[in-house]
Amino acid sequence: MTEWQGKHVTVAGLGVSGIPAAKVLHGLGALVTVVNDGDDERARAQAAELEALGITVRLGDGATLPEGTELIVTAPGWKPDKPLFAAAAEAGVPVWGDVELAWRLRGPDAAPWLAVTGTNGKTTTVQMLASILKAAGLRTAAVGNIGVSLLDVVLGEEQYDVLAVELSSYQLHWAPSLRAHSAVVLNLAPDHLDWHGSMEAYAADKGRVYEGNRVACVYNVADKATEDLVREADVEEGCRAIGFTLGTPGPSQLGVVDGILVDRAFVENRQKNAQELAEVSDVNPPAPHNIANALAAAALARAFGVSPTAVRDGLRAFTPDAHRIAHVADIDGVAYVDDSKATNTHAAEASLAAYESIVWIAGGLAKGATFDELVAKSAKRLRGVVLIGADRALIREALVRHAPEVPVVDLERTDTGAMRAAVREARGLARAGDTVLLAPACASMDMFANYNKRGDAFAEAVRELAAGA
Ligand code: ADP
Repeated sequence: MTEWQGKHVTVAGLGVSGIPAAKVLHGLGALVTVVNDGDDERARAQAAELEALGITVRLGDGATLPEGTELIVTAPGWKPDKPLFAAAAEAGVPVWGDVELAWRLRGPDAAPWLAVTGTNGKTTTVQMLASILKAAGLRTAAVGNIGVSLLDVVLGEEQYDVLAVELSSYQLHWAPSLRAHSAVVLNLAPDHLDWHGSMEAYAADKGRVYEGNRVACVYNVADKATEDLVREADVEEGCRAIGFTLGTPGPSQLGVVDGILVDRAFVENRQKNAQELAEVSDVNPPAPHNIANALAAAALARAFGVSPTAVRDGLRAFTPDAHRIAHVADIDGVAYVDDSKATNTHAAEASLAAYESIVWIAGGLAKGATFDELVAKSAKRLRGVVLIGADRALIREALVRHAPEVPVVDLERTDTGAMRAAVREARGLARAGDTVLLAPACASMDMFANYNKRGDAFAEAVRELAAGA
């Protein structure tokens, strides 16, 4: 008989986290009720599958707290101001996310977690970290927000030495007792503020990743907000603050000296004051923001005791996921690069900073963002701009204010075929040595199903151009 036997647990939300959570809890003997706002065909099919197992499902009513609920396990995306949570607070019912559930069920006894969060670069950093850990011969996996359910991994058959865990701000919000071995907040820029309510609340949720860390809290020297979060965190005795910087590292930092990634935080030989890890050219692609990601991954791996050689081998073995600064083709001396994953201004700024002379394809859904800072910082690199998508006027206005001399083609289109036209226009603006960069600074859903489809449309248009060139 476990503590779960007969316990009334409400799972909030069908979906990628709700369905595994409901099944696991049911398997443990809990009396599970799933509540879901939607009541469409897909939800009904999912409900039927769970009901066949003996799980109760209430469709079209995600607001009412089922009677007798002792615990809610929520999908991470459910906003904290939902009436269900107000009812839970009133009744004194705790709310956990799926990450909290995974942690409570297995976390402390299973493989240690090296946790990665931040506004941008999470997936890349977690994959680099997993690659480094594998190069060190450790049994590991990249899990969490990257699309691999932590519940499935911690309860699965496979044994791991260590996990590289990507955590979103939502997941952290609902994971109050999570304690990582070591963690990093890569950077902090306004994002998802409608969900969190304010920048302070967003930062506080990100900062939870440091709570209770045992070995290292890794922060970004160039982003003071991340260092502040480390200072505010309550950590285990002996846990160290480790910085990463694109400049020369100070003590307890990793950084870059003469094109070499060096570690001054975890130095094995006392005679030396720095450990060489890898060359900048070992990082793929060697864009500044990506070198920062590599340093963060290296810091976590080094905190786990991984050797410098494994850091180098792991970085060399890493290839980025699609649509993240992916080089598509060179045509007439112009490089065409797909960074469709740059879905906010902070990401686009990093990607624009990686090239000298750019024809920038931008636009889409702005999600409430403003573009003045991005355009002002990037103006000197712009050869020209091609605008597409629903909120392109916001970017056009920022260009008028901060880069009036840069030629802008506003396609005034939001249809899927606009990408082809955008690539052709970009070719007209570019000169040999330039980069045509798709870094939209916006979400894609006005024109495409997701950023993958947007990047595919770009790559296809470029290949067409290359074939005809
Ligand atoms: P996430 O998982 O946080 O969304 P990804 O690794 O998928 O991050 O990268 C998303 C986009 O963010 C990239 O395409 C790139 O434009 C940008 N990016 C990646 N790393 C960084 C970084 N360290 N700082 C700023 N922007 C970054």
